[in-house]
Amino acid sequence: MKPLEFSAPATLDEALGLLAGTGDQTGVLAGGTDLIIQHRSGHRDIGHMIDIKKIPELNVLDFDTKTGLRLGAAVACDDLGAFAPAQKHYPGLVEGAELIGSTQIQSRASVGGNVCNGSPAADTICPLIVLEAVCVVRGKDGEREVAAIDFMTGPGQTALQQGELLVEFRIPPPPPRSSDAYLRFIPRNEMDIAVASAAVAITLADDGKTCVSAKIAIGAVGPTPILVEEAAAALEGRELVNAALEAAGKASSAAAKPITDMRGTVEYRVHMAGVLTRRAASMALERIQESD
Ligand SMILES: Cc1cc2nc3c(=O)[nH]c(=O)nc-3n(C[C@H](O)[C@H](O)[C@H](O)COP(=O)(O)OP(=O)(O)OC[C@H]3O[C@@H](n4cnc5c(N)ncnc54)[C@H](O)[C@@H]3O)c2cc1C
Repeated sequence: MKPLEFSAPATLDEALGLLAGTGDQTGVLAGGTDLIIQHRSGHRDIGHMIDIKKIPELNVLDFDTKTGLRLGAAVACDDLGAFAPAQKHYPGLVEGAELIGSTQIQSRASVGGNVCNGSPAADTICPLIVLEAVCVVRGKDGEREVAAIDFMTGPGQTALQQGELLVEFRIPPPPPRSSDAYLRFIPRNEMDIAVASAAVAITLADDGKTCVSAKIAIGAVGPTPILVEEAAAALEGRELVNAALEAAGKASSAAAKPITDMRGTVEYRVHMAGVLTRRAASMALERIQESD
């Protein structure tokens, strides 16, 4: 690895000052589990790394029943997984974070880094999308908000402009009788990248049976994650019996636009998008029923 400059600012303003006017050769470092590998392998040529882990605003982890979850962009996946309100109210997001790499990777890797890396197979983006997370972004001109569904714009590309940092995710509080779930399929038992993935968030009516709201997102089956409105429509207004779950799965398969690569064929990924949608919806439903 070539020698490089390293800064570890303690404030957000200092970090934004360091970033201002820099180009591709400056790398923002959260856990480094993507960035350092990309630099070492020559995929990115970085001359200056800016470590953001010491910045308080990027380490916030807080839950309030009225305002929901605030998750700092640099919080390690491990810390999110150990945070009891996240386990209780956003189990699908915790599932995504706890699938990343291994225990060692999760102790460094952040949800922010997972999303900023822009991989269509990233394990936390679909859970964030179905929870209607807002990504809070800061640059020298101030703060702006980007909906999670709009954050990834292509493979390795995001809505971040040069000089901007992702500061935190704000996730609304879960409505009563709601839950979420995330599933992915990988060819090996662990330490692999998703061939297909699905996140589902559902809310039931007072009767505890009828679905009043659903959000379904599928990953690794297109250049960016896909919010499948037709799959959600197959659940909304219905009891979540097999026929409704099957219809949601079929809608996800129809929406998937994957490529064939070393991990799986187009046909297999299309099929798996449907299977994972159906199973994740069942899991979310079971979670609501268990909490009654
Ligand atoms: C062995 C191994 C296994 C892995 N397994 C998985 C897996 O199963 N699933 C999966 O999804 N990923 C996996 N990954 C990829 C990686 O671990 C995750 O994407 C992780 O969440 C990245 O987080 P990080 O904090 O390490 O990001 P970093 O490497 O620090 O950063 C990633 C990118 O985001 C940018 N960035 C980071 N934070 C910010 C910010 N706040 N604002 C602006 N830009 C920012 C960086 O500049 C860089 O371009 C694996 C990696 C390894 C090495």
